[in-house]
Amino acid sequence: MKPQSPVQTPINLRTTGQQLHRRSWAEPWKIKMVEPIKKTTRRQREAALGAAGYNTFLLRSEDVYIDLLTDSGTSAMSDWQWAGIMLGDEAYAGSKNYYHLEDAVQKHYGFKHLIPTHQGRGAEHILSQIMIRPGDTVPGNMYFTTTRYHQEHAGAKFVDVIIDEAHDPVSLHPFKGNVDLAKLERVLKEAAHVPYVSLAVTVNMAGGQPVSMANARAVRELCTRYEVPVMLDATRAVENAWFIKAREPGFEGRTCAEILKEFCSYTDGCTMSGKKDALVNIGGWLSLNDGKLADKARNMVVIYEGLHTYGGMAGRDMEAMARGIEESVEDEHMRARVGQVEYLGELLQSYGVPVVVPIGGHAVYLDARRFYPNMPQDSFPAQTLSAELYLDAGVRSMERGIVSAGRDSATGKNHYPKLELVRLTIPRRVYTQAHMDVVAESVVAVYQQKVKAKGLKMVYEPEYLRFFQARFEPLKSKAKG
Ligand SMILES: *Cc1c(COP(=O)(O)O)cnc(C)c1O
Repeated sequence: MKPQSPVQTPINLRTTGQQLHRRSWAEPWKIKMVEPIKKTTRRQREAALGAAGYNTFLLRSEDVYIDLLTDSGTSAMSDWQWAGIMLGDEAYAGSKNYYHLEDAVQKHYGFKHLIPTHQGRGAEHILSQIMIRPGDTVPGNMYFTTTRYHQEHAGAKFVDVIIDEAHDPVSLHPFKGNVDLAKLERVLKEAAHVPYVSLAVTVNMAGGQPVSMANARAVRELCTRYEVPVMLDATRAVENAWFIKAREPGFEGRTCAEILKEFCSYTDGCTMSGKKDALVNIGGWLSLNDGKLADKARNMVVIYEGLHTYGGMAGRDMEAMARGIEESVEDEHMRARVGQVEYLGELLQSYGVPVVVPIGGHAVYLDARRFYPNMPQDSFPAQTLSAELYLDAGVRSMERGIVSAGRDSATGKNHYPKLELVRLTIPRRVYTQAHMDVVAESVVAVYQQKVKAKGLKMVYEPEYLRFFQARFEPLKSKAKG
């Protein structure tokens, strides 16, 4: 059986006179409660953006019409999750919601030990501190901001071992998140000590691109030969499972839940941001199969997060996440989730807007280099595009380019990433297809005005993870480049 394509291209039967040759799917839910959003005028948006230093992270959400900043913690919870919130057992120790969460993680991710954390970076912090010694090397399939920060903070050097196609926004490779096994083996051979290999799925900074099952298996085999553990960043592992189902031969008939479990079985543990796949507004965890390592993690979690049976979460939050995990692995949920992202991506492509292809799992990435081909990277093309988008119709997006890439921790020099992107990130179960249409039309309007964009200069640069709080001013005239 061929998997039904997640792509839902609108067909206009009236104007084409075509036969109905396929049947559409729709979201497997209906809306019970609504949250009003507000339109603003261009003048209001100009004032708001100026006050925010041209950084969409610094806007007030009230000034945003359609908020595609992130899919992190922005999901709509189901009635079943909200019902779970009322069943929070707020005991300091041994809350029953912790055990529900442990059951859900063991059932669907398959790891033995669960250490809850307040969110993903809490887990990354603990994992990095218990496994990395100064001077270590950590290979990974492209960096993620907080992951790399914690690895470097613990004294490691991060080495990117993703396949070259990942850095090419027009390559149609179906699994652009894959690890380049030759690059990885070189690091394993040459580095003095590799505490673990960091495997992320899907790969956020490459455009939400998946890793194939075959690649995960091969990474496992290679790492077993070198006796190096594999640690998974499982943040969007269920979305990754959907792509394996849709694209990898032999997986058409398997469920996302089965695929997820097999995928995790090739790894030794995971860090997790529950704010993504797991459909909650806050929460995360660290999972480990090694009991000794788990004991170390439990020793650390009490210092930084909270007791090992709550790790910074309320009982009700753990219950919502346990239930969110159950809902997240449903095939119909994933079809609608990834399908909505593809809908927006295909619409933009049909208008000729340059986007990263294939369309990723959680976001559509606009290629700012092709948007503004003459703008030097030092004038922050993606940051500029993100600002222009907000000004046009109040759509909030996020820069994923030179600002996010930050500086080399050793030399202090700017990283110059090949990918200079703006991320339109789709929250789960929040916006409708009509919202996607409005977004696409706004992007097209900005694209048509692209010659007017001048770029930005950074006027305040924070020391760590600068993209969150950096401030900018518009350049008066175009920089040459
Ligand atoms: C969001 C994210 C994290 C960090 O998780 P938080 O919950 O935001 O702390 C780590 N890795 C990836 C790939 C992410 O997208």
